[in-house]
Parts: sequence; structure tokens; C-alpha cells
Amino acid sequence: MVRRLFLMMTVWCAVITGWAQKPNIHILATGGTIAGTGASSTQTNYTAGQVAIGTLLDAVPEISEIAQVTGEQVVRIGSQDMTDEVWLILAKRIQELAEQDEVDGIVITHGTDTMEETAYFLTLTVKTGKPVVLVGAMRPSTALSADGPLNLYDAVVVASAPESKGKGVVVAMNGLILDAHSVVKMNTTNVQTFQSPNSGALGTVYNGKVHYDQVSLKKHTTFSVFDVTTLDTLPKVGIVYSYSNIEADMVEPMLNNGYRGIVHAGVGNGNIHTHIFPVLEQARAKGIQVVRASRVPTGPVTLDAEVDDDRYGFIASQELNPQKARILLMLALTRTNDYRRIQQYFNEY
Ligand code: ASP
Repeated sequence: MVRRLFLMMTVWCAVITGWAQKPNIHILATGGTIAGTGASSTQTNYTAGQVAIGTLLDAVPEISEIAQVTGEQVVRIGSQDMTDEVWLILAKRIQELAEQDEVDGIVITHGTDTMEETAYFLTLTVKTGKPVVLVGAMRPSTALSADGPLNLYDAVVVASAPESKGKGVVVAMNGLILDAHSVVKMNTTNVQTFQSPNSGALGTVYNGKVHYDQVSLKKHTTFSVFDVTTLDTLPKVGIVYSYSNIEADMVEPMLNNGYRGIVHAGVGNGNIHTHIFPVLEQARAKGIQVVRASRVPTGPVTLDAEVDDDRYGFIASQELNPQKARILLMLALTRTNDYRRIQQYFNEY
């Protein structure tokens, strides 16, 4: 009887304080404009990654009403300086956190320049159904109408929502929830920069609530075969950006500098200039993989279109832009050097 009474009182206290209902969200901070500071509230010159995670959270006390938040600083960089090393640190740390019963969701604060790349890397390497959400800002914390505080609040809402489970890694920016495979930074300065131009956003976050309209059909997280838990480096893959009159000497250095893969950001449907086609054939002859992607912002690069991929042993990037094709090729190379199997990954992920 006394035990029952004690139990009831404990539950009741928990309900009153709201403690029992609040999810535990852990924030991993990496820097970026969301943590940037400038000398003026109206000018754009500022330095990314200046503000520590504690200060960012202090600026949004409303977050404590919706979640129990803990945080740690992983790195403090502008995301233009992102590296494979930091990605591996992040993937491993997120995996550890996701395996803890008391963690319900994870938010990563990140610069916007390479956010789509980090999101895609993490959705392929972290094995969890728990929400993992990347968030940043286009305006530094000292700007008029800084977008960071609301974005951070929204990201915690997304990470706390049961509906966000099993969606893979997502980006929450300016009211949209976007999946890691399709999200692209579309504008250099505008706050509505993140979009999924090929497939549309997964959903929205507004007034503290999420609303999902669709799911991604691509493989990710628990369905992904890629595992980086024992890796300290990733295979070296580079990108060549094509243009009219490109010359062979732009690509030749990639044959002798340890590259295991080349992503060709081609024109149109991943087309390749005759000046560099022979260099890419030489790459294949040396066992270096070649992925045909495109510098065109939307639409897939389709297999065997103007280029007969099977004849040359090339891989078509499908909907992945060059920077994401690079990530999938790096991870694919941790498992195989067979271009047909790698093409299969590009079809599925
Ligand atoms: N250069 C910054 C970064 O990516 C830009 C931003 O966060 O918006 O870290």
C-alpha cells in the first residue's frame, strides 16, 4: 500500500513538473554562422563559430519548456573547413549517443556551407531510428532578425517529435524539414536557402509542431550497409568541375595523387568534353572509379544516356549532386571496387 502510494506520488510529481513528458535531446555543436558574431547588426561581415553551445542555448530559454537539453562542443569551425576526420568523429559520437536509452534525439548545430554533405554522410553511416537533426543559420547571432534562435528551437521540436523517428538524418531550416539525400543549399545569402529541388521537403515545423507530408524512399540509417565505426580515414575522392574548353591538365593530376575515385561534375546529363574523356578512360584503366554527376542543379544523371557507361565502366550519379556523389563513392569504396556494385549503391541510396 505504502509502495503504491509512493509510486503514484512520484508519477504525479513528474506530471506536475512536466519532467516525465520532456524528451532528452543532446546537442552537438560544430560552429557555423549560427554561432557567428559580427561587429554590426546590419552588415554581413562576421566570423563563424565564435559562440559556444551554452551561450546559444541561453539565448533560447523557450527550449527548456519543450525538452531536457544537454550539449557538447565537438569543433568550432566554419563548415567550409569541414573534413572527413570531423565527419568520422561526429558519426561515432552520434552512434554512441543514439545507443543510450536516455537520449531521445540528437541535434547538430552546423554551418550551412557544407550542411547538406554532413547530413548525407551521417544518414549513410549512423545506425539509429532516433531523430538526428542538423540546423544552422544564415545570419550571425548578432544580426537583426537572426534566424538561429528560431531554427534551433525548431530543430529541438523536430528531434523531440515521435513522428521524426525512422526518417533518417534531416535538416531543419527556416520552417522546412528536408531529408539528407535531397537537401541542397540553393542560395548564397537568403534564409530560405535549403530546399529539396528534385523531390520537395519532407515536411514543415511551425509553432512548435511538426507536420510531415512524405517519406524518402532512399536507403538510410538502419538500412544502410555502410559502417565507419572502425575507420580513421576515408578513401580519397575528388571532384572535377567541367566547362567549355576544359583541358586535360585539369584532370591529369588526379591520376597520380592517391585518388581512388573521381566525380566528374559534367554538363547536361553528365556529359564529358572530348578533351578530358581520354583522361577519365585512363583513370578507369588504373582502377580509379569515375562517377558522372552534373553541374546542372536539378534532374538525375541517367545511366547509359549520351555516354555508354557500361562500355567505359563509369557510374551515373542519379539524383546526387557532385558533392554528395563524392560522399557515396567514398563510402562505397570502403566496401568494393566493382563499378557495377557501386552503381547499385547509387541506384539505392
Ligand atoms: N561559412 C558559414 C559556415 O558554413 C556559413 C553559414 O553557416 O551559414 O560555417
